[in-house]
Amino acid sequence: MSDLSAFSLAGKTVLVTGANTGIGQGIALGLGRAGARVIGAGRSSMAETAALLAGIGAPFEAVTADLGSTAAAQAMFEAAWNAHGPIDGLVNNAGIITRVDAVDFTEDDWDRVMDINLKTMFFLCQALGRKALAAGRPARIVNIASMLSFQGGIRVASYTASKSGVLGITRLLANEWAGRGINVNAIAPGYIETNNTEALRNDPDRSAAILGRIPAGRWGLPADIGDAAVFLMAPASNYVHGAVIPVDGGWLAR
Ligand code: NAP
Repeated sequence: MSDLSAFSLAGKTVLVTGANTGIGQGIALGLGRAGARVIGAGRSSMAETAALLAGIGAPFEAVTADLGSTAAAQAMFEAAWNAHGPIDGLVNNAGIITRVDAVDFTEDDWDRVMDINLKTMFFLCQALGRKALAAGRPARIVNIASMLSFQGGIRVASYTASKSGVLGITRLLANEWAGRGINVNAIAPGYIETNNTEALRNDPDRSAAILGRIPAGRWGLPADIGDAAVFLMAPASNYVHGAVIPVDGGWLAR
C-alpha cells in the first residue's frame, strides 16, 4: 500500500484507556482524525475528550472503570465489547507514577503502580486477544511504554519495573500472536507535557536538565504520541510486530 489509505482507520473501533486527559486524549484525537471510532475507558469523566472528538466529527463512546483493579478492567472490556464491539484495537495508556526514594518505598507504592501499569495492561491484552483469536479477527494492540523501559530513572522504582515489564510483555505477546493476526507493539514517549510530568516541569532544576538533553529542544505533546499510535493501528504497519517506537525528541539517541 502506498497511498494515504494505508494510514486510514475508517471502520475500526479502538478502545483507549485513560482517554480523558494527557497522552490518552492525544491518542484518542489522533485515532479519531484517522477515521476510527474511539471508546474511551477510565475512571474520570470523558466529557472533554468527547467534546474534542465531536468537534472533528469523530464517533466516541465512554466506558467507566477503575483500572487499578484487574477484575474491574476485565469486566469493563467485556461490557465495552458487548455494547460497542467488536473491538479492533486496544491502546493500553492509563498509568500512574510514584516518586519516592528507594529506601522509603512501601509495598503499597509498588503494588498500586504495578497493578495498573503492568497487571491490568497484560490482562486487557489477554481480553482482546481471546476475543480476536476465538473469532479469527485481526486485532492491534499498542502499549504505552516509557524512557524507563530502557533506562533506570531515579526515585521511581515501581514505575521503572512496570514500564520495563510493558516492553517485555509487548515482545512476548508479539511472539505468540504475530502469526495469528494480532499486531502487538509499543510506543515509548519521551518527556511529554501532561499531569504525569507536572512536578518535573515545575522544578526549575529538573526541568532545565531534562530540556537541555532533548535534541528537539522542546517537551513532547500528546498529539506527537497520537500520530505514532495511528501508524501502529493502521495497515501501514502490517508487518510491524513486537516493536517499540520512541517518540522522544531524540532523547534516547543522545
Ligand atoms: P496523565 O495525564 O496523568 O494521565 C494518566 C491517565 O491514566 C489518566 O487518564 C488517568 O485517569 C488514567 N488512570 C490512572 N489511574 C487510573 C485508574 N486507577 N483507573 C482508570 N484510569 C486511571 O499522564 P500521561 O502522561 O498522559 O500518561 C499516560 C501514559 O503515558 C501512562 O502510561 C504514562 O506512564 C505514560 N508516559 C507518560 C510520559 C510523559 O512524559 N507524560 C512519558 C512516558 C510514558 P485520571 O485522570 O482519572 O487519573
